[in-house]
Amino acid sequence: MTPPRFPARPELASLKPYNSGLTVTDVASRAKGHPIAKLASNENPHGPNAAIQAAMRDAIARPFVYPDPSARALADTIALLTGADKDRVILGDGSEDLLNVLARAVLNPGDEVVTLFPSFPLHEDYAIMMGAKVTRIGLTPSYQIDMDALLDAAARPVRLTLLANPMNPAGLWLGPEELDALLAAQNPGSLLCLDEAYVEYAAGPDYASATERLAKHDKPLLILRTFSKAYGLAGLRIGYGISNSDDVIDAMNLVRTPFNTNAVAQAAALAALTHTEEMAQAVSHTLRERARMAERLTALGLRVLPSKGNFLFVDCGQTSCDVADRLIGFGVIVKPWKQEGFESFLRVSVGLDWENDQFLEAMARVL
Ligand SMILES: *Cc1c(COP(=O)(O)O)cnc(C)c1O
Repeated sequence: MTPPRFPARPELASLKPYNSGLTVTDVASRAKGHPIAKLASNENPHGPNAAIQAAMRDAIARPFVYPDPSARALADTIALLTGADKDRVILGDGSEDLLNVLARAVLNPGDEVVTLFPSFPLHEDYAIMMGAKVTRIGLTPSYQIDMDALLDAAARPVRLTLLANPMNPAGLWLGPEELDALLAAQNPGSLLCLDEAYVEYAAGPDYASATERLAKHDKPLLILRTFSKAYGLAGLRIGYGISNSDDVIDAMNLVRTPFNTNAVAQAAALAALTHTEEMAQAVSHTLRERARMAERLTALGLRVLPSKGNFLFVDCGQTSCDVADRLIGFGVIVKPWKQEGFESFLRVSVGLDWENDQFLEAMARVL
């Protein structure tokens, strides 16, 4: 029998399924006995510390109880650590969930959404899902963020300016002065959303988180963060948003599902925020490895963009899909970029030392 037809909303016709990358199981048969280095999803392979593991064990013992719908203990701690008002914190089932909630809460058909390009695909997809139109701000010919174009766009009465800082996949970032220029340029009728998924890797005098500007900013601002990257909890799905606007938080709270973050994730995230020493050590290690990898790739003659994430964006000088495919034969999974103009780039996460070595050796062989 032919399955019955039931067309979806027309906005969905131009969406492609999210490219979540290959799993270890997907490539096992092609890796010819190599251990598999999964360097495609910017995970922190160092894993959660003992305090986080204990918190997870405690929380899983009572799976029949609904989680706290407002994650009060966690939200209050986030407020304390970020300086946000505790009633303007929202938790999500990963920050991807919050991007989806944000789009559903604020975007009308025909609204304009400004984002950086190459982009985190979900920044565009959820806008398209709502029938909004996306304006991409590209890189300059020398592969820098086109600040003039970004400031011009943000100054127009667009509905939403949404960008990651540091940027994924490019790894580029807005320095403190650029961030201040963007906050100053923002149209007062627009919402500015800064996705700081990689903030823990970005520390240094040449980077500033928008959290430090939140209290004094007089236009709507939303900052998103996640426990999936530096905190190493990608599998649990938890992230948060903080804002200076009750309207934004109230709307998102109406749209999200009431129990969108599970009890184990809430407990783990709270422990993660209160036991940060091992996370900080893992981050330092990743930063050292990132520099080593960039140096080795540059020595291979490749263009490597400067990065403040736990990943590098590398121009292979040939179609990166083919390169990524050949890397699988060496047990290495990376993410070949497919957006227009960046088909020769791949994004590689900084992994454990042996994984990075395996990637670097494999790159030298496949190129
Ligand atoms: C990884 C990533 C996210 C997703 O984080 P989750 O909390 O795991 O959903 C969001 N934004 C950017 C830019 C990312 O790279």
